[in-house]
Amino acid sequence: MPDRNHQATPASGNRVASFCTDSPADLAKLAETLRSGGLVAIPTETVYGLAANALDEAACRRIFDVKGRPLLDPLIVHVPDHAAGERLARFDARAVRLAEAFWPGPLTIVLPKRGIVPAIVTAGRATVALRSPAHPAARRLLAAVGIPLAAPSANPFGYISPTTAQHVAESLGDRIPFILDGGPCAIGIESTIVALAPGRPARILRPGSISCGELAEALGEPVDEAPAPSSAQEADVEAPGMLARHYSPATPAALFDHGTVPDARADEAVVFQRRPEKAMDGPGAPTVFWFSESGDAAEVARNLYALLRGLDERAFTRIHIERAPPSPLGNSINDRLRRAATAD
Ligand code: AMP
Ligand code: MG
Repeated sequence: MPDRNHQATPASGNRVASFCTDSPADLAKLAETLRSGGLVAIPTETVYGLAANALDEAACRRIFDVKGRPLLDPLIVHVPDHAAGERLARFDARAVRLAEAFWPGPLTIVLPKRGIVPAIVTAGRATVALRSPAHPAARRLLAAVGIPLAAPSANPFGYISPTTAQHVAESLGDRIPFILDGGPCAIGIESTIVALAPGRPARILRPGSISCGELAEALGEPVDEAPAPSSAQEADVEAPGMLARHYSPATPAALFDHGTVPDARADEAVVFQRRPEKAMDGPGAPTVFWFSESGDAAEVARNLYALLRGLDERAFTRIHIERAPPSPLGNSINDRLRRAATAD
């Protein structure tokens, strides 16, 4: 874990973000920053978010500026609980059931919005995406600030999501005043997003650690699975996290099937799901890495982005990545890997 209260290394420029803790004094400072329209990077159990007052249009616009995020990509709003969510959106019986079953936790629910939510948050849509994060520091900040927080992942648009405070500092440290350091994220991939349109079956817009089966069980009815990635050129995407290329390293990445060995060169990296039984050595062999000792999918998800970021800083010409074996979480991991490896 990074040292607390140290200065982050700036990516460029001169203003440098301060790392904060969830001490009462730091939380009061962060809450004041958010209330006056500033941005704060926050830990959640999925990935780090770049938070602003969700009811302040100018503050939310700053999120788009800092991330280089297109305005057509709506933001997820973070609330302490279902009651706070009710002020922003209309919950039907299914939404209440999902909030009761999975909040606080890594489930984002897309619901008909109320007038109080500024259009910039929803990219002009009639729906708003809501989530109640489980991370204790995020919850303490939500309680201290008393307003809903719009927060997409705290990374430049399209790049790999941050799972430590240091990751945030490396790419946005010169553009934001404060990073609340809550340690490494426990889950490591973004929330499951489910849309609940009245009169239609629940539909997964982005797979995550909460599976289709778990949602169907809580609802007592079938849930439509996430669609295959859409084209990056497609402008009117239902959830821009669905863009074919997203979560991507700058180094070209290629996927290979689980249980196989890729044809890779000495200047390339090969990443397996688990520690391989046989070394790839000899002249011309690539450098080998793995996401998890045992291949446990939760551990792979937790380590996924940190390893890809680390590899992206080295001089490999290509990163070959093994697909996860099929399982609910493995399929969500493969969704992120597919986007990381998409060239357009
Ligand atoms: P991130 O940038 O990782 O925070 O991703 C946020 C995701 O939530 C994006 O992919 C958004 O498209 C999705 N999202 C937010 N609001 C809505 C909405 N009203 N309808 C559908 N998806 C949404
Ligand atoms: Mg993102």
